[in-house]
Amino acid sequence: MLAKATDDLRRYFGYDTFRKGQEEIIQLVLEGKDTAGIMPTGGGKSICYQIPAMVLPGITLVISPLISLMKDQVDALKQVGIPAAYINSSMSHGEIQQTMAEAREGEYKLLYIAPERLESFSFLEELKELPVPLVAIDEAHCISQWGHDFRPSYLRIQSMIGQLEGNPTILALTATATPEVRKDICESLDIPAENTVITGFARDNLAFKVLKGEDRSSFIAQYAEKNKTESGIIYAATRKDVDQLYERLQKKGVNAGRYHAGMSDRERSEQQERFLQDDVSVMVATNAFGMGINKSNVRYVIHYQLPKNMESYYQEAGRAGRDGLDSECLLLFSAQDVQIQRFLIEQQHLHAERQRQELLRLRQMVDYVHTEDCLQAAILHYFGESETVPCGRCSNCTDDRKSVDVTREAQMVLSCMIRMGERFGKTVIAQVLTGSNNKKVREMGFHELSTYGILKQQTTKDISEFIDFLTSNDYIGVTPGPYPVLNVTSRGKEVLRGNETVQRKERMQAAQVVQDDELFNHLRELRKQIAASENVPPFVIFSDQTLQDMCAKLPQTAEEFLTVKGVGAQKQERYGNVFIEAISRFCEEHPDRERKTMEVSTKKKPTQETDASHIVSYEMYKQGRSIQDIAKERELSPQTIENHLFRCINDGMEVNWEELLPSQYEPLIEQAIEAVGAEKLKPIKEQLPDEISYFMIKAYMVKKVNQ
Ligand code: ADP
Ligand code: ZN
Repeated sequence: MLAKATDDLRRYFGYDTFRKGQEEIIQLVLEGKDTAGIMPTGGGKSICYQIPAMVLPGITLVISPLISLMKDQVDALKQVGIPAAYINSSMSHGEIQQTMAEAREGEYKLLYIAPERLESFSFLEELKELPVPLVAIDEAHCISQWGHDFRPSYLRIQSMIGQLEGNPTILALTATATPEVRKDICESLDIPAENTVITGFARDNLAFKVLKGEDRSSFIAQYAEKNKTESGIIYAATRKDVDQLYERLQKKGVNAGRYHAGMSDRERSEQQERFLQDDVSVMVATNAFGMGINKSNVRYVIHYQLPKNMESYYQEAGRAGRDGLDSECLLLFSAQDVQIQRFLIEQQHLHAERQRQELLRLRQMVDYVHTEDCLQAAILHYFGESETVPCGRCSNCTDDRKSVDVTREAQMVLSCMIRMGERFGKTVIAQVLTGSNNKKVREMGFHELSTYGILKQQTTKDISEFIDFLTSNDYIGVTPGPYPVLNVTSRGKEVLRGNETVQRKERMQAAQVVQDDELFNHLRELRKQIAASENVPPFVIFSDQTLQDMCAKLPQTAEEFLTVKGVGAQKQERYGNVFIEAISRFCEEHPDRERKTMEVSTKKKPTQETDASHIVSYEMYKQGRSIQDIAKERELSPQTIENHLFRCINDGMEVNWEELLPSQYEPLIEQAIEAVGAEKLKPIKEQLPDEISYFMIKAYMVKKVNQ
């Protein structure tokens, strides 16, 4: 049966192999075992029931909570030649009757239904008449009260399945993996816990980035402008932020849309539709947007503010790059966000225990912002994965900005705050430092302070940003309340006493996520036209990854076209000629365009700059210099240099392992990991003799993964 599954994958979807986890899940399902599948967003969950639906007789039921998602899925299935339909509240009674009649006639292989349908007794009666071998439950975490999207109707699923004829197999799928939720899913649906398939949560094509103390709205404007032709989502916390950012982007000539709860249903669905159709490239939205958006070509997701916890963050950020192409997830951090989130949690009047939990999750989110370790690894740790290696893509792994010593400037700010009695917010502090003539400053007598005007060569905006920087690095604390008041922390006091220096990195520059390619843009335009004429979103016709593969392979015959990733028989038949023709014409006009015979790699091509940087460190290391020594000379942190080396290893470059990690240490490290687990480095280190460094332990892990 698995052979037929692989054939179908190729024939319908144009993919050669199953991804991690897919094969295991499909195997279990085809053996008739109830299964829970946990995969990250974009991991390829749909294939896990769509392929069995084609292999098994009868009609597979799919419970899906989101109307818009259902429609897209059904459109996409029709595109590849799989007959499918959906039933939800947007349809009239007559339409539902007709669809059910067609289902009884055996016209469909898949039927998507919203969970609320299960509340209708007469609908359940009709379901009983269908030959259902498999019930797939998408977004299965909605069954759990622990989950963040609990849906009461999900609790009816189990009894519905019990009423169906023929004892169908159950497949529950979700991207939310916390142990409580997993347990709830298995218990509510009677799935044996051992039939749980969990794939790694790493997203190899996403580059996570954290930016602290930047002027956020300027950064976003600059970023969105640089990436004008790409799809992106910008999440902001409030309607007001959404509106302001939206207007700013519009003014810059960026084709932006917006989405928040203050708009009418009609406006919102119109905006969403335009985003799906690629008519709008950037969507500025509150977190109400995105549930059920399976648009695969989102190239970046930016969080304008700190999200409330890692679950929400990873789910929202994970909407980038579902097609597997390189994409970015940026989190812009400002210290007052923490106060706002804390305030929001406190406002909810939760149970003491629940509130404690929420605050803890917020704390963990803040830890993420401040970590100097690999960001992807930090996320995976949070979700309970222990064996992680630096990703080589995130802003920590690739950080080689120079640091500047700003200790003196920091001392000026901190001492000014103390002189002002630590009772003010950053605007007034900045005004005093720049020597502003503001009335309030005069009234309070601050113009007589020795620190008045001490930084007058700077603007108040520069100083505000510098204060943000000091706050996000814990030199300045913020007292909660509607008007945040700043105080000097104990760390800040160390700076004042001259016991600690303050280093500030150069600014992070907004960069282009993908390089422009004329052919790609051309094919994208063609895809858009076809999509419009067929009334489906462009990514349903072909994913960006498929277009990119076309650009690399430049197929000229039907046979070659079929080798393009994501092209199955039906799409080849429908669109092969149009695309082959467009590609041929382009090649005639651009005779220098070369074909890549190799399979295109979706791995990031490092940019010149960062490329040079990690290789520079690598070369220095090869000359026998120590990591400390290289860090000093390059004005980078030792951690960055280590990450450079790991990156070289991950890229398959040769290193002298004996030198990085003397082989006699390996069994010791292995034993230590066996004893205390690989989750945290510190306990491992404590098990080992001093001469085995943290670096060697990490090197050991990197080596294991790359073997
Ligand atoms: P999820 O529901 O887990 O978020 P999807 O089912 O939407 O993910 O799949 C994400 C993307 O991955 C889709 O564009 C899909 O076509 C693609 N995909 C799924 N399985 C494979 C595979 N075996 N090979 C290549 N691409 C795949
Ligand atoms: Zn990383």
